[in-house]
Amino acid sequence: MAGTTWDVIIVGQGLAGTTLAWHLQEAGQRILIIDTNEAVTSSKIAAGLITPITGMRMVLSWRYDEFLPVARNFYRSIERRTSQLFFNERTAIRLFKSDDEQENWAKRGQRPEYQSRLVVPVSAPLLDPDLAETERGGFAMHAAQLDVAAYLEASRAVLAWEPMKLDWLKDVSINANGVSVGNHQTRLLVSCEGHAATTNPYFSQMPFIAAKGDILTVRFHASVPSLCLHRGIWIAPTADPEIFRIGSTYDWENLDQAPNAAARDDIERRLKEFFRIPYTVLDHKAAVRPIIKESKAYIGLHPEHGRLGFFNGLGSKGSLHAPWYAQQFSDFIVHQTPLPDEINVDRLFVR
Ligand SMILES: Cc1cc2nc3c(=O)[nH]c(=O)nc-3n(C[C@H](O)[C@H](O)[C@H](O)COP(=O)(O)OP(=O)(O)OC[C@H]3O[C@@H](n4cnc5c(N)ncnc54)[C@H](O)[C@@H]3O)c2cc1C
Repeated sequence: MAGTTWDVIIVGQGLAGTTLAWHLQEAGQRILIIDTNEAVTSSKIAAGLITPITGMRMVLSWRYDEFLPVARNFYRSIERRTSQLFFNERTAIRLFKSDDEQENWAKRGQRPEYQSRLVVPVSAPLLDPDLAETERGGFAMHAAQLDVAAYLEASRAVLAWEPMKLDWLKDVSINANGVSVGNHQTRLLVSCEGHAATTNPYFSQMPFIAAKGDILTVRFHASVPSLCLHRGIWIAPTADPEIFRIGSTYDWENLDQAPNAAARDDIERRLKEFFRIPYTVLDHKAAVRPIIKESKAYIGLHPEHGRLGFFNGLGSKGSLHAPWYAQQFSDFIVHQTPLPDEINVDRLFVR
């Protein structure tokens, strides 16, 4: 592939870069992805949960009704293209862990916009009490889960990509026709670098508030149903019915990928507070979620260097948000469809 001319070179093969590459390729663009091919990245270790009601305060996920059908259709189409399965509709159970949560739900849970997300009628009990402490109750919702690592791997086998760590100062040269990237020439070079975008010299103004997250992989020593369980932490199924992922923590100080012993203790303590099944920890990993202020991803072009693009900030909801954002950005690049102002990276530049 050396010396080829491309329409778009994408830097980063995480959820953002991969999903943008598929959309652009579908629109007839010649795409190359450059990626460092690290074993651990935010996307590679993510649990891929897609949940309509989230967080301590049990709020409705932003534009869920708009984003979910786009995500479902997109992942299903890539499953067909790659003959692999990685998108699963799931039931997610939220168990209350305090009086406050029960009271909060009693107020908001009856609203139609919440009721429409719930699995009803809820079978009683919500969950086998031998599995977990369910005394305060909870609710079951329609959710989904992307096997992110499988999606990335299946995509890597089809999309053109090159293992390389791009040095934006040494490898990139902007010229009249586009951008030279090493031996390659492209019309547009897009940063989909996740948290590493904080070191991108062209986008150094972006207000990242990234957060490291630790995640455990465990084997349960009794049968556990393939559903997602939330109670302060979450338990998420994998393709192996005995193996589950458990997470996660938020650390805004130590933005590295070293698994943290205190974070593991915290996850295990919160698991044992309510889950009764013995387990063995098989693996412990950590990575940094690329979060930008307002917890939104941003897309668009550099205001002065219009050959440089940006798609970062997927935060904790990359699996749900990536396909909708990628569609917007692809339509902008290929058809000049204006970007929605609220997610246009242009508004983050201080002038
Ligand atoms: C523990 C944990 C659990 C999570 N669980 C969920 C979940 O359940 N549901 C959910 O939706 N989201 C979850 N997330 C968040 C989700 O992982 C992120 O939204 C998503 O991974 C962000 O993807 P990205 O492509 O922006 O960044 P990344 O995944 O970081 O990808 C960036 C890629 O760019 C490459 N790269 C960077 N710089 C360069 C360069 N200069 N040259 C070449 N390559 C480069 C990197 O190697 C990497 O492959 C979780 C995250 C963590 C850490």
